[in-house]
Amino acid sequence: MSLYEATIGLEVHCQLLTKKKIFSNAPVARSKEPNLDVDVVAAGMPGSLPVINRRAIELAIRAGLACNCQIRPVSRFARKNYFYPDLPKGYQISQFDEPLCFDGFVEFRLPNGSFRRVGIERIHVEEDAGKSSHLGGSTLVDLNRAGVGLAEIVTRPEMKTPPEASAYLKSLHATLIHAGVSDGNLEEGNFRCDVNISVRQVGAKEFGTRVEVKNLNSFRFVEKALEYEIARQIGLVSGGGRVVRETRGWDSAVGKTYSQRLKEEADDYRYFPDPDLPPLRVSAEWLNKIRASMPELPDQIRKRFCDEWGLSPEEAETFIQDPELCAFFQHTVKLGAPARMASSWILTELGGVMGRTGIKFSQQKLSAESLVELISLIESGTLSGRMAKDLFSELVLEGHRPRDLVESRGLQQLNDTAAIQAIIENTLKENDSTLQEYLSGKEKVYGYLVGQIMKASKGIASPEIVNQALKAILSKKKGS
Ligand code: ADP
Ligand code: MG
Repeated sequence: MSLYEATIGLEVHCQLLTKKKIFSNAPVARSKEPNLDVDVVAAGMPGSLPVINRRAIELAIRAGLACNCQIRPVSRFARKNYFYPDLPKGYQISQFDEPLCFDGFVEFRLPNGSFRRVGIERIHVEEDAGKSSHLGGSTLVDLNRAGVGLAEIVTRPEMKTPPEASAYLKSLHATLIHAGVSDGNLEEGNFRCDVNISVRQVGAKEFGTRVEVKNLNSFRFVEKALEYEIARQIGLVSGGGRVVRETRGWDSAVGKTYSQRLKEEADDYRYFPDPDLPPLRVSAEWLNKIRASMPELPDQIRKRFCDEWGLSPEEAETFIQDPELCAFFQHTVKLGAPARMASSWILTELGGVMGRTGIKFSQQKLSAESLVELISLIESGTLSGRMAKDLFSELVLEGHRPRDLVESRGLQQLNDTAAIQAIIENTLKENDSTLQEYLSGKEKVYGYLVGQIMKASKGIASPEIVNQALKAILSKKKGS
């Protein structure tokens, strides 16, 4: 029996975060109603001419820099000719043999903690097509999206497993959002992936015939589609069959890929330089300006969070993959919260409340200021960790300030050692049988005693002082 291995290359289309379309002044996605954000260029009216949106190019260059690419000083737009109802011009303006960015790499962390690097072959700029909806027997066309700027990011065929592909995608997704290139909204199709996949016998020199599965808009679907396709192709070739070069779709309802069309070759598109557009020149000066304006990217963020701020690699990764949460975390640290404490309150407690109630980060009401205040109330001893946790869901759901709650409810941790000792003595008297058990060697009842003492203090005794004082009192009783 021979062994097979898979080869995977990914193409990502990501929507550039511009206010206007890439070759006209029509707005991007302002209208929920179909066909309102349409202008003569996107509609392919005779005589209309495209003009390059500088901001779109700048964002694509940022994508290139974030992916460690070379930026081509002179690149060109080409027409990719094909007929589709949602592409009124009959061709898509794209780039072909002279893409804006080329020869880069993305480094990413695998779930097992090791790092991998994948080569980026090219990043080119193109316009999106409209959207067709098939309803009953007819097809409805919405051109709101036609002409919206996209960056297409193409990897080398260097990945081998579905988890590796999905880790790369998550990292690319986070990188593009941190770099301000795209909002990365997966549900709206602003970050979508085509996967290319082939199998070959281990040790074979040539790649096997590849299949492309188009338009996957979730990381889970990418992994599932790859798993399915690898098994299908291995089944075919190990049974003596052959893989056909084709484009397939993904049916998430049944978890299978299905054949859509035999793959067309580049020749079929009759690519040629678009005569309506001049060559795209990127001056050294402009490129330097863009380079200087690049924010910190995941690699650097990861280093800072782990090496300087003492977070675990898992915590750092969670923040990196959720840029909104990452900004919130950094804001609390900037306002003075100790990083590790802030991280744990955000990831464990805030994450917990959001998970339990099903609200999104954008719906929660805890401000960075409130979190800093809460942490400083704990650090100053006004609140115990327990008391703070008890208040926490109200801060998140109602947006109250911690100090206001502490005042209006008269909350104040009890830090008076003598008072706590009195509570302890009293509680031990009331729980004499448990105390005797403890003294005769049954040490696991200790936690129960602590619980009773906290309860007797109505939850406000400082847990540290309770522990210290209780241990001292117990060891005295043992000795006597
Ligand atoms: P196309 O224009 O047909 O999409 P490209 O040359 O742009 O073709 O390649 C698309 C993707 O296919 C790239 O991500 C590349 O890494 C990947 N790829 C190329 N050959 C193979 C192969 N044999 N198996 C898997 N992926 C491949
Ligand atoms: Mg392709």
